[in-house]
Amino acid sequence: MAKFKPFHEFQKPLIVFTPESFLDYAETVIPPDHLCRSVKEVVYLLDTEPIEAKYSFLGQHTYHPKLLLSLLFYGYATGVRSSRKLAERCISDHMYIYLMQCYTPDHRTISDFRKNNLKEIEKYFVDIVRIFSKLGYSHVGKIYIDGTKLKGNASAKRTKDRAGFEKWLSEIEEEVAKLLQEGEAIDNQEDETCKIDPEQEALKKKLSDRNYLKRQIEEALKIMKEEEKEKINLTDRDANHMKTGGSKDIRPGYNCQAVVTEAGFILAAETVTDANDRNQLKPMVEQAESNTQEAVKETAADSGYGSYANYEYLEQKGIDGYVPDSNFQQYKSGEYKKEENRYHYTNFEYDAATDSYMCPEGKRLAYWKTRTNKTESRQWNHKVYKGTECGTCAKRTLCTKSRVRELLIDIREPLLKRMREKLLSEEGRLKYFMRQYIIEPIFGHLKFNVGYRNFLLRGIEKVSAEFKLMCIGWNLKKMLKLGIKPVRI
Ligand code: SF4
Repeated sequence: MAKFKPFHEFQKPLIVFTPESFLDYAETVIPPDHLCRSVKEVVYLLDTEPIEAKYSFLGQHTYHPKLLLSLLFYGYATGVRSSRKLAERCISDHMYIYLMQCYTPDHRTISDFRKNNLKEIEKYFVDIVRIFSKLGYSHVGKIYIDGTKLKGNASAKRTKDRAGFEKWLSEIEEEVAKLLQEGEAIDNQEDETCKIDPEQEALKKKLSDRNYLKRQIEEALKIMKEEEKEKINLTDRDANHMKTGGSKDIRPGYNCQAVVTEAGFILAAETVTDANDRNQLKPMVEQAESNTQEAVKETAADSGYGSYANYEYLEQKGIDGYVPDSNFQQYKSGEYKKEENRYHYTNFEYDAATDSYMCPEGKRLAYWKTRTNKTESRQWNHKVYKGTECGTCAKRTLCTKSRVRELLIDIREPLLKRMREKLLSEEGRLKYFMRQYIIEPIFGHLKFNVGYRNFLLRGIEKVSAEFKLMCIGWNLKKMLKLGIKPVRI
């Protein structure tokens, strides 16, 4: 057995480090295919002049943006995103020390850098996508779109409607009045005894907290009125109420959208406050095209994106889409063919020659008129067909509650039919099936392996940059896995 050297408390270390010698040492011990090397290579290719321009030549030297960007990218790739933890890693972790070149920024410097460069961080996400694009790894020929909900950094208890805030405000006003009375009594007592009461300071602090809360509630009420919101969260006013992270509870959170290539790169990422995915297909396709400067040819997304408007958009753009509608599963399983659904509109046969429908009893429903429906955000047209022989029909009570059966068919119904047929074909089934093996594991990894089930930052602007940092982290890891060498764009 090998002998060890005698140990004593003040034993001299084998190597005495200076920052320079430590970096030389790190170069030799960090494996050549380690993530921190890829992060460094990519960050050194990015143009940080826009950030550098924000600094003044006067005052103390600060850390170069490339160092702090490396720190953030590597931190977000490995699940370390709290500025305090990042600052601590700059002292205790080889990889962070290597990336920061032995500088040790404090947590305030890191969080201010992140907060002050939100737009630049979002741009670096695009720059990194373009690096992959230039290398031919992020062709948008075929893309997958999906969304996931992440909790906001806010308590659900602080979400209230107008009545809730008004009640809270009146309680605080009562409390403030009581605190003022108590303060006055203490003042009088101090005048009489000529002694300072230690309770006065605690009272002042409590009063200032209550006044701050009061101002916040008043501001929230004002925003609710101006933006016609029904509910708002006092801590993060942009967070919307949605089911987040597979939970059944409705919490303040954000809807995070991503576009992924077949190779698993995230090409486009966006954070929205709309809980519904339906309106996100078009902006995500557009963002993917803008980021890569290429046209999308094929896409697959889940039923959350299924809508007539989206089918119309895909058709107009000439994109081969595989997007089921919300009733596709029932349609596929034959649910509508069951006897109890005999009079469901899908069982009415369309006759193109006469522009009419034939009901399951073989009676005709003739075209009556086209009705336009409008909401604040959209407008759509329905063709209305009316039964011609319903008055004498023995099955009328099973078919309709009215005197005559009416069919309201969206004029874009043929698009839905074509989509369903495509998804039922062997090729369509396979193409749609691949979606769950490509995009869903990415969200699974971010949420369950790296632990991003919630945001640290607050407000849509900050949260949006934070999601992009998570996606940058994923893309850098993907780059390493595929052995890609970055190039200047
Ligand atoms: S009520 Fe009219 S549409 Fe319905 S089954 Fe009878 S004839 Fe056909």
